[in-house]
Amino acid sequence: MEAFDYLAPRSLAEVYDAIGNGRRSLLLAGGTDVIVQLREGRRSCDQLIDIKHIEELTRHAFTPDGTLEIGAATPLAELYEDTEVRRRVPALVDAISIIGGIAIQSRASIGGNVCNASPAADSTPALIALGATLLLGSKSGNRELPVEEFVIGPGRNALQPGEILLQVRIPAPAANSGAFYHRFIPRNEMDIAVASAGVSLALDANSERIESARVALGAVAATPLLVPAAAEALQGQAPTTEIFAKAGEAAAAMASPITDMRGSVAQRKHLAKVLTVRALERALQRSREAR
Ligand SMILES: Cc1cc2nc3c(=O)[nH]c(=O)nc-3n(C[C@H](O)[C@H](O)[C@H](O)COP(=O)(O)OP(=O)(O)OC[C@H]3O[C@@H](n4cnc5c(N)ncnc54)[C@H](O)[C@@H]3O)c2cc1C
Repeated sequence: MEAFDYLAPRSLAEVYDAIGNGRRSLLLAGGTDVIVQLREGRRSCDQLIDIKHIEELTRHAFTPDGTLEIGAATPLAELYEDTEVRRRVPALVDAISIIGGIAIQSRASIGGNVCNASPAADSTPALIALGATLLLGSKSGNRELPVEEFVIGPGRNALQPGEILLQVRIPAPAANSGAFYHRFIPRNEMDIAVASAGVSLALDANSERIESARVALGAVAATPLLVPAAAEALQGQAPTTEIFAKAGEAAAAMASPITDMRGSVAQRKHLAKVLTVRALERALQRSREAR
């Protein structure tokens, strides 16, 4: 590992100054990705900027309108240990409570998981399904981006030079809605998704028709995917097995996976369908439990 300086700024202004000082910078939140990449020589920098000491990046709260605002460097365990987060946003907890093991979850942040831009990251498809947005900040101001527009390739995201992720924002769930995230891994824990699916469903007042839906996939393309065709297949329909199967087929059709040591193209396409259907069933169940 090459030598680098370690900086621990105490304010966002100090972070922006450090990023803009002309040296090659990398941010450090939990370090569970970046330290591994530095050690293996896959990344290098002149300075590592630790953002874990910045108060607004390490807290989370519900706003009066029910939006969950999560500081980018908030550890995963802090989120899923919050009973209000568990009650109001269970699909987020589905995703963040399966990332690595407890030691990883106690350090790793949600912002790091999204910024690392792995096609197989667990929180990203769940956030896409939940309609989350990202607040990005730089010295010259802030902007907001839907999560599905953030990852632009394996290991590549939409951050501009000088910009950092400040917050993940998850809107309050609609009335009569449910969401669910899960993945397929060949082992029970400490593995990376072969394929994953996150969905959310909002039903009408009688739970007879689907008013809106969002379906997202992980690990079946170069980036996590939002699948508009699956949402279109569901919208306005009764939540039946046949309709869920159609949405699953739309998800499989949009998947463009690769074959690697974890799985083949055929297996991943099949999983895209099966995981979507099962996630829809579980989201429907949650929408009924929430009534
Ligand atoms: C044993 C092990 C098991 C794992 N299992 C899983 C798993 O099951 N599922 C999964 O999805 N991941 C898994 N991971 C990957 C990793 O733990 C997650 O991606 C984690 O959430 C990253 O968060 P972090 O805070 O540690 O990020 P860091 O390593 O600190 O940062 C990751 C990247 O994001 C950048 N970054 C961090 N914060 C910001 C910010 N606010 N603004 C801009 N850029 C930023 C960093 O510069 C770096 O490039 C595993 C890792 C290990 C070591």
